[in-house]
Amino acid sequence: MSQKNKHVLITGTVAFDDIETPKGSSGKIIGGSGTYIALAASVFGKKISLISVIGNDFLDKDIEMFQSKNINTDMIEKISGEKSFYWKGKYNSNFKTRDTLITELNALEKFNPVVKDSSKNAEIVVLGNLHPSVQLSVLDQIEKKNSFVILDTMNFWMDTSMDELILAISKTDLIVINDEEAEQLTSEKKLDSAANKIFNMGPKIVIIKKGDKGSEIFNSEKRFSIPAFPVNCLIDPTGAGDCFVGGLAGYLSTQEQIDFDSLKKSMVFGTLVASYCVESFGAKRVQNLNFSQIEKRLEIFKAYLG
Ligand code: AMP
Repeated sequence: MSQKNKHVLITGTVAFDDIETPKGSSGKIIGGSGTYIALAASVFGKKISLISVIGNDFLDKDIEMFQSKNINTDMIEKISGEKSFYWKGKYNSNFKTRDTLITELNALEKFNPVVKDSSKNAEIVVLGNLHPSVQLSVLDQIEKKNSFVILDTMNFWMDTSMDELILAISKTDLIVINDEEAEQLTSEKKLDSAANKIFNMGPKIVIIKKGDKGSEIFNSEKRFSIPAFPVNCLIDPTGAGDCFVGGLAGYLSTQEQIDFDSLKKSMVFGTLVASYCVESFGAKRVQNLNFSQIEKRLEIFKAYLG
C-alpha cells in the first residue's frame, strides 16, 4: 500500500503535572493532553502541528523538545503574566482510578486559538482533551470538508461545559473516550448501547478505551476489540489515553484510506505507544520512542494475540 503523509493538527493542553502513583511521585513535570498526543503521533506522522497555550513558566528548551520531534510549534501561544495549565493527580493502589487533586486552568482561560492558513486543510484534526469552546473554535477555523475530526474529552468538561461539549461532539467523525466517560455521557452502562446513543449525537465511529482491558471500536454495523499490551513495569498511567489517540492519529496519517479497517490497525499502534508511556512518569518514555521500538512490541503483541 502506498504511504501517505497526511497533516495532523492537534489541540490539547501543554501543561505542568504533579503525579502520585503507588510507585512514587513525579514532582512538577511536563504533561498535558496536547503534549502526549503530539509526541505519540510524531512516532509515525511526518507532518504534525500542535495548537495550544502556555504561560511564562514554560521554558524555551521545552518547546525545543517538541521541535526536535518535528512537531510544528508555531501555534503554541505564550501568554505573558500567566502560568501554564497545571494538573495534580493521585492514583489509587491498583492504578485503576485516580483523584484529581488540583486543576488550574491558568493560561487556558485566556486561550483564543488561531489556526494558521497552512493548517486549515489538515486531513486529520485531533481535538484533544481541553475546554470544548477551544475545540469548537479550532473546528470552526478548519476546512471541515477535507478533515477527519477525532475528539477526546473527560469527565471534567462533562461536569463543567456539557452544552458546548455536545456541540463539539456533533461536529466530530470519531470520538475516543473511556468507559466511565461513555457512561457519564449517555447514561448507558453497556458499551454497545452507549455507542448507539453517541451515533445519534453525530460521530459515525466510536472508540471506547477500557484501561487495562484494551479498547473497542464501533460503527453502526460492526464492532471490534483489542486487548491492552501486557506491560511488566507499570509506573504511571497518566497520558496513556492521550498516547492511544496520538498513536492512532499518527499511524492513520500514513494510511491511504481512513476507514474501519485502517482505524482497527491504527488502534494497535495507539495501544503500543500507550504501553511505553505507562512505563515512566510523565512523557519521558514517549519522548524517546522510535518506530523500531514499536516494531519490537508489535511482534510480541502479535504472538500474544495468537
Ligand atoms: P490522561 O491520563 O490520558 O487522561 O491524560 C492526562 C493528561 O491530561 C495530564 O498530562 C494532564 O495535564 C491533562 N489533563 C488533566 N485534566 C485535564 C483537563 N481537564 N483538560 C485538559 N487536560 C487535562
